[in-house]
Order: sequence, then structure tokens, then C-alpha cells
Amino acid sequence: MTTNRALNETELEAARALVADIRGRIDEAAGDDEQLRFALNRKVYKELSYDERGKPNARQSLKARMVKAQGGNCAQCAKPLPPADTVLDRLSADKPYIDGNVRVLCRPCDLAIQRGRGFA
Ligand SMILES: [Zn+2]
Repeated sequence: MTTNRALNETELEAARALVADIRGRIDEAAGDDEQLRFALNRKVYKELSYDERGKPNARQSLKARMVKAQGGNCAQCAKPLPPADTVLDRLSADKPYIDGNVRVLCRPCDLAIQRGRGFA
């Protein structure tokens, strides 16, 4: 388990400037059209999340492969995984959702792990 890289103060300022720039460009593109602003925000958000997490269908098929590879059991507690409400967990969040960096957890184990990481 690695700790996610954090931004230092200079990098945080750069990130804030990027967000402000993107917001300004969305404002420019949307003008007075609030529905267009909503749609542009949503599209940019979605595309950036794909950059970070990959596309949902790729994660879903990886999850199905991992469940099979884990014999249908949670990677943490080894209890049988329920048919739904399972979590594809990255061992290193700064690395992609790929074989070797993921495992499937039951919801209670994921919550306990997220709490341990300080995320829940
Ligand atoms: Zn579990």
C-alpha cells in the first residue's frame, strides 16, 4: 500500500489556476446558457474522471475477471462476495485499474480500509 502523492503549496496553486482557467473557458463557451454550462461541466468532469479511473465498462470487465480470479471471495476477509455492491479497490490509487493493482472487496471491508486510509 502506497500513500497517494500530495500536492505541495506551489503545485496546489497551479491546480487552482488550472481549475479557474477551465471554469473561465466553460463560462466563455456557455455564455448565458445555464443548461449548456451544466452539460459542459458534466462532460469535462466525466472525461477527467476517465483519465483518472478509466472508463466504467473497462473497470467492470476487470472486476468480473478479478472476482473469478479470487474464486468469488473478498480479497480481504475471504468471505463469498455478494452478487452486487462490491468494490474494485486499487492497491496504489496513483496507478491505473489494471491486473496486479486491483482487488475486489466486499463493502464492509472496503469501508474499513477507506477509514484506515482516512477517506471515510
Ligand atoms: Zn470482505
